[in-house]
Amino acid sequence: MTGLVLRDARVEDAAATSDIVVEAGRITAVLPAGTPHPLGATDPQGAHETIDCAGRVVLPGFVEAHIHPDKAHLDGLRAPRGATLADAIAVTLDLKREFTHDDVRDRSRRVVESAILNGTTTLRAHPDVDPVAGTLGVEVLIELREQYRDFIDIQIVAFPQEGILRAPGTDKLLRLALAAGADVVGGCAYQEDSVEDCRRHVDLVLDLAAEHGVPADLHADFADDAGDPRQSMAEYVAEATRRRGLGGRVTLGHMTSLAGRPRRERMAVMRELAAAGVAVVPLPATDLHLGGRSDTRAVRRGVAPVRELWETGVVTATASNNIRNAFTPYGTGDLLDIALLLAQTGHLSGPADLRRVLRMVTYDAARVVGIAENYGVRVGAAADLVVLDTDRYDDIVLDRPERTHVIKAGRVVARTTRTRQLVNAPAA
Ligand SMILES: [Zn+2]
Repeated sequence: MTGLVLRDARVEDAAATSDIVVEAGRITAVLPAGTPHPLGATDPQGAHETIDCAGRVVLPGFVEAHIHPDKAHLDGLRAPRGATLADAIAVTLDLKREFTHDDVRDRSRRVVESAILNGTTTLRAHPDVDPVAGTLGVEVLIELREQYRDFIDIQIVAFPQEGILRAPGTDKLLRLALAAGADVVGGCAYQEDSVEDCRRHVDLVLDLAAEHGVPADLHADFADDAGDPRQSMAEYVAEATRRRGLGGRVTLGHMTSLAGRPRRERMAVMRELAAAGVAVVPLPATDLHLGGRSDTRAVRRGVAPVRELWETGVVTATASNNIRNAFTPYGTGDLLDIALLLAQTGHLSGPADLRRVLRMVTYDAARVVGIAENYGVRVGAAADLVVLDTDRYDDIVLDRPERTHVIKAGRVVARTTRTRQLVNAPAA
């Protein structure tokens, strides 16, 4: 097989359809549908594969910017004592003591395969790195990154879930994980005992990022409000990022407490994040499940203020975070489900908002994980594509249509067919 042609494809929101020509893993032409295509020159036998898209929408592959495959599918093993963030961390720490290589691999593999089936072509995984789990999650993800390299790009974040200063030895393990092949250094800014230690944690993570020339991706400000000063590290991260010249390479996940700060204050914080080049990734499935647990009336939604993040120019994506564990007892690894959840809980509606939400799992997520240069349905971009069973771009987040074909580097890696029809429906 020397190439692939997607015939009669609707490139995102285009009114007319196109033929998308792919050679050697890249998009080499996007032509009005039916135009004789240049594959003939390099492929005289016509041995290329053709997909007849029949007017369906083609998007660049979804980007899962934040997920924990090593901790997925733990639900049902042991119930947490309650349903707060602290309860989820505690029960998962207990379960982690029993993790084996095979068990972590099997659960992680389930996550990776469902992501691919759902149209995800790049995934940033945050396996735990701490004195209990060691670097097991990183080792497993390195194995899967290699095994699935023709199906999906996996980025590995070395994630200190239990803190760094309060879990002695973690800094050394983070270095080991980076040496072994982790792509990103993670952080968990609120998992220290004092504000000073939270700051030291941020500094340690960003120093490691600078030293190893890798991006940083921290969990931060994950509470209903910023009453606990350990849960308002955003300004400090912005300043620390700027100081090290790491703009465009630092991401903060959750950031729910932002929504609990007075409007003037939070707008100022978001402008600082935008100016420093720090991205934000709200994780609504987890944020909604763990948030507002102390509220007995008017329970808070606990999701970062998405529209204000847009307004202040912060690069903002959204992602799954956890699949079926104490942090998030839901999830299928389908980013369109997350997009719809974010829209429903963020007062986001109508075509303009929904287009922007769709960008949060495509173009904006690509910026977060640093692949924007090669991303998109355009000549020169990587041929990482998803064909959706719809011709209505504006309804994608609402309908979450089947992903009929998922294409990685020009090769079909997943197919879905489903037939639904009304039987003996009345004539129009
Ligand atoms: Zn996370």
